[in-house]
This record gives sequence, structure tokens and C-alpha cells, in this order.
Amino acid sequence: MQMRIGGTGTGSLDGTSIEVKNPATGELVDRVPFGSSEDVNRAVEVAEAAFAGWKQKTTRERGMILFRAAGVVRERHRDVARLLTTEQGKPLKESIDEVRGFAGILEFYAGISAHQTGELSRLGPAGDCLVTREPLGVCGAIIPWNMPVIIMGWKVGPALLAGNTLVVKPASSTPLANLTLAGILEESGLPPGVLNVVTGWGETVGEALVRHPLVRKISFTGNSETGGKIRALAAAHPKELTLELGGSDPMIVMDDAHIDKAVEGAIRGRFYNAGQTCTAVKRLYVHEKVSGTFLRKLKSRIDALNVGNGLGPKTEMGPLNSAVQRERIARLVEETHENNDGTVLSGGCPLTGKAYEAGFFYRPTLVSDVSGRSRLLTEEVFGPVLPVMTVPDLDAAIQEANTTRFGLGASVWTANIHTVRKVFDNVHAGIIWVNRHLTVPPEIPFGGVSESGIGRENGSHALEQYSRTKTLFLGW
Ligand code: NDP
Repeated sequence: MQMRIGGTGTGSLDGTSIEVKNPATGELVDRVPFGSSEDVNRAVEVAEAAFAGWKQKTTRERGMILFRAAGVVRERHRDVARLLTTEQGKPLKESIDEVRGFAGILEFYAGISAHQTGELSRLGPAGDCLVTREPLGVCGAIIPWNMPVIIMGWKVGPALLAGNTLVVKPASSTPLANLTLAGILEESGLPPGVLNVVTGWGETVGEALVRHPLVRKISFTGNSETGGKIRALAAAHPKELTLELGGSDPMIVMDDAHIDKAVEGAIRGRFYNAGQTCTAVKRLYVHEKVSGTFLRKLKSRIDALNVGNGLGPKTEMGPLNSAVQRERIARLVEETHENNDGTVLSGGCPLTGKAYEAGFFYRPTLVSDVSGRSRLLTEEVFGPVLPVMTVPDLDAAIQEANTTRFGLGASVWTANIHTVRKVFDNVHAGIIWVNRHLTVPPEIPFGGVSESGIGRENGSHALEQYSRTKTLFLGW
């Protein structure tokens, strides 16, 4: 597949390419151009040239193009989802949800396009003030491999509706669905150059995009270390930044929770996308009065999870996205076991056998009584390993929940509104779910505190992050 620059498919200037492989089978899925800083320059120049025309369109006109594209994505969602599963590994059902979710995001922004207004301040004899918002110009979007489609939607939807043009850099292991969706947006009426996609490594294409003086904003989703690097690189120019970084979300299960629903919440919260989700349940705290029953039920659900190729009709969990990811996860579990920092109740090793030998499969893993010094708790664990700890009461649960440098999401499972209030007021996170985890519909702002990042995506709030105020003072 080729990159998209100025509305056409194009190779890299030097003609080299990157192989995209299926993480379940090791087979080659496709090749994409190995882009360079020269390719970024081309894309940024084209996006800069397209900006004036795109900005001139009304918000409603831009919204209608997003709406048409959403319709085409819905028509072709099965093909795009299949492509996503073959490059990323997740079960087809999850890919379908993600691709439909992308369409839902475009529909949401199309829907609010009719309601964009400014603010009027009447200042008496001095005059009136009209405060409007204007787009920033060329924006850069850097996308990770874990949820490449939904995260592309979170950036493309508000950036384009606000009137910006974009250069997208997909993750090197998952560029195909992103390129396909960019093609659909073009077919649906997006003028050439408004949305461009440059493939290639983060250190070359990503950094060139961040450094480029004509790029007015970078929206980056990825790990916290890369986020720190991008922050430093971006500081050379006046540039807006949204950083959606890692997380280590706690889930608190109180003694009045509906146990079966909480068990299902933990299964989905941790093992969805093989645990490779920024807001996955990464630390589970269970009230001691219910921990015995809860753990028994949780373990039996984990042991029964069907792991395999994401295209298999019964697959509930696919492989990890790369060998590196699997090594990282395996090392964290081995280290916890060797140091007596926790008890492995389920899993704790890669899957073996013919169906698994060419892919990056790892058993869904449950580790109990994890010590606070274990890296399973101090680092972001981006894979199917669930550490579970018993707590005597809500205060202890909140205290443990806050022992992290991250602050993306958190959930509490309870029937008591006072418990909800206490968790909401005291747990450091951008979103608190009650009797749920992971759900992020297009309407709600999403983003973290502390090392989980800066800025918000999704919802109408994201439009503010892709525009700036401009004021007209009318002295009558
Ligand atoms: P990385 O930071 O390694 O990569 C993310 C993207 O950044 C990729 O496109 C990558 O390119 C690119 N990149 C890498 N290095 C640079 C650089 N120096 N300059 C510019 N771009 C660069 O993250 P992961 O791929 O490991 O993604 C998983 C992480 O994303 C997790 O920590 C997860 O929590 C986080 N995440 C956060 C979310 C949030 O909203 N808060 C949502 C989803 C994930 P390449 O592919 O070529 O390496």
C-alpha cells in the first residue's frame, strides 16, 4: 500500500519499504513506503497549500464530508476490520467495533458541525466583543499500534472539522487500516492535501513531523517516554501539544458490588485487545469480604478464555502485536515470580503448540498478592497480565489506587453512591467509571493527568484543542 500525499498514493522518495506482518502467523500482509524527513516535508507543504481552501469552507460543509465518509466506512467496515486484525492481531469482533467506532466519531463531529457558535460580550457604550475560534493550520497526528483506527478517529474528526489540515504518521506495524481510511475520506470528498499519511519509523518520520516549523500542533498517542521526547523536540517552535500517554488504571471492587458483573468487567477491562489498551484495568483492588469468591470466579473465566488467531470465529483474545511486547510481558511476570513478589494463579507463560508457534501469543495471566515494589504495579503493563490485591476498606483502596505516576482512568464497582463520590473526589484520573471500565463513546472528553499526558481528545472539548480564539472588538 502507498502513502497518501496530496490526494494520491505515493512511494517514498528513495523507493524503500517496511514489511507489515501478521502477529498471529508471521506472514507478510503488505509493504508500505519507508518514509523519510523529505517525505514529511512534501506532505507538510501540500497540507499548508490546502489549508486556505479548507479553512474557507463552512463548518457545516466540512461536517458533511465527514458524514459521507462515515457512511462509506460503515459500508466497508468488514473489509477494513479484517485488515486491522491481520496487521494488529485483535479478534475480528473487536476490529469491527473499532472500525464502526471510527465511523461513529466522524458522525459525532458531523452532528455538532451545525452548532458551532462564537461568544458575544456586550460591553455597553465601549462596544461589543465577538470571540470566535479559528483553525491552527497544519497539524501532525502520531498514532500507536494498539488501537490505530479509533485513535486516528479521535485526531482526524476534530482536527478536520475545526478547519485544519493534517499529516498523519501511523505506527510502523499497523499502517494499513489507517491508509485505507484516509483513502475513504478522500473518496468521500475531502480535497487533496487536507489529509496526508506518511509511513515510516518514529525516529525519522515522527521526529521530522514534530520538528517541522510549519506544523502548528502535534497530537501524539503513545508511551510516556516517547511523549517526553516529543515535548522536548516540539519546544523549539511555538507549537500546541496534546499528549495521550500511558496508564495504569486501578479497578476497585467493593463488598457491595455485583460480583458477576465485576468479574466480567475485569475480564473485558484487562484482556480486551490482549491487554494492549491505555485504559485497560492494570491493577485490581478487591475488598477482602468478597475477594475469595471474586478470585475463584475470575480465575475460572480467565482459564476458559479462547486465545488464537483473531480471524478465528471463537477467538476471545489474539496475540500480542510484536515479539518485543511479548518479551517485555514475559519478563515482568518471571521477575515477579523470582522475587516472590506475587503468586501466579493462571497463565504466566507463552502458549505452545502448532497453532501458536509463529505468532506472539501469551497466556491470559492472573497474579495475586502482588507486592507494591513489583514492576507489575509500578510500570504500565501493556499485555494480558492482571495483578490483583486484597484491600480491607475503601480508604486503603483509594490510597493504593493513587500509588502511580499515571492518571488516565479508574473504576469503582459498588452500589453505594457515597463510595462513588469518595472515589470521584479522591482518585487521580481523567475519567472515573462506575460499574464499568473502558467505555469511551465519542461524546466524552478523554485524557489523563500526571504522566498520562496533557490535553483532551474526543467530544466537543477536542475542538478547542484544534483551534484558537480570535476576537473582534466592535467600538460602535
Ligand atoms: P510508542 O510511543 O512507541 O509509539 C507510538 C507512535 O509514536 C508510533 O507511531 C511510533 O512510530 C511513534 N514514535 C516512536 N518514537 C517516536 C519519536 N521519537 N518521535 C515521534 N514519533 C515516535 O508507543 P507504543 O507503540 O508503545 O504504543 C503504546 C502506548 O500508547 C502505551 O503506553 C499506551 O498506554 C499508549 N496509549 C495511550 C492512549 C491514551 O489515549 N492515553 C491510548 C492508546 C495508547 P513507530 O511505529 O515507527 O515506532
